[in-house]
Amino acid sequence: MLYRLLLSVVLALSGVPLLDLRAQHAVVGDAVAEAVAGVVESQSFILGLVVEEFEAEIASLLNVRHAIGCASGTDALLLPLKALDPKPGDEVILPAFTFFATAGAVWNAGFRPVFCDVDPVTFNVTRETLEVRWTKWTRAVIPVHLFGQMAPMEEIGALARERGAFVLEDAAQALGARQRTAEGGEAAAGSVGDAGAFSFFPTKNLGGYGDGGLMTTNDDGLADALRKLRVHGGRQMYDHELVGTNSRLDALQAAVLRAKLPHLPAWTEARRKNACLYHGALAEVEGITLPETLPVNLHVYNQYTVRAEDRDRLRTHLQDRGIGSGVYYPVPLHLQPCFASLGQGEGDLPVSEEASREVLSLPVFPELGEARIEIVTDAVREFYGTR
Ligand SMILES: *Cc1c(COP(=O)(O)O)cnc(C)c1O
Repeated sequence: MLYRLLLSVVLALSGVPLLDLRAQHAVVGDAVAEAVAGVVESQSFILGLVVEEFEAEIASLLNVRHAIGCASGTDALLLPLKALDPKPGDEVILPAFTFFATAGAVWNAGFRPVFCDVDPVTFNVTRETLEVRWTKWTRAVIPVHLFGQMAPMEEIGALARERGAFVLEDAAQALGARQRTAEGGEAAAGSVGDAGAFSFFPTKNLGGYGDGGLMTTNDDGLADALRKLRVHGGRQMYDHELVGTNSRLDALQAAVLRAKLPHLPAWTEARRKNACLYHGALAEVEGITLPETLPVNLHVYNQYTVRAEDRDRLRTHLQDRGIGSGVYYPVPLHLQPCFASLGQGEGDLPVSEEASREVLSLPVFPELGEARIEIVTDAVREFYGTR
């Protein structure tokens, strides 16, 4: 009892960060150091055995034929799009409510980004939101599994098959997320579309100690192209069949990720438990809307994102109490200055625009623990109780 009291006082004084990577490092630090030392000993830093082992482990975890490491989640989106060899005017439909990288990759691959709206409950694209943006130029669609919950892949896949478009899953926030299939089985994020893109940016559910990314596909031909594209477009040195780039997963990062991977299931469970505690404590609070999970989905909560009335004032209220929170994302992509020439403007994608004004992500990292969740939920309740 006294211990609990002391603990809550200490925690309240130290605040609640949005993310605390040091807590995780305290657990995995020794294993990571050993793995890194192994790479340093080998002096083999580019691709090689450690990267191949990591790729095989991810392929097996996700049940895909090919997992191909690359330099970042951004490049994991870029290279499959480059493999499609865009012609001038070719379009890719993607949500306006996502991280910038999704759109940047489309643009940099040589496609015209066409932004679509999202479902107000899940923040994900649906068949309907994609369909209204379809043109005869549409070559690919990018469902983003935002915050760790998969977009409805069955209906999106059906639409893409009917119209002959490529499906690239942006699974940067969704490593380990799963979805029930029509046949009654389960499919992992990144294993359903024609290709999938993952990021190991430190804030993702499996974070490296720097940048890193990975592409997935079940298509042998595409896998072959992606393996070339990440090393300047040739299978052998100085023999270039495609114009690729330099985008490899670093052996040091692969070693770190391999050391951390066995913990991923427990970390996912902890995130899910934290979400559950938030649900229990905040369900009755007037003024916020809690995230909902589609019945077919297993959500991995890279972010626990609510819609909040008076969002910016709530954020300040939390900040004053030492509680971190994040706004992902404050400006929908069709309203970014760099995409003004595409001609989509204010009012065109109302659900994305409203989401940008209302969303707030609360701390949900695995090591958060009940006592700190209580600090957060007390502060949220206090805000809406006294407003
Ligand atoms: C993080 C992220 C990316 C980009 O990953 P990087 O490794 O940072 O390049 C792309 N899409 C989404 C949805 C992301 O969250």
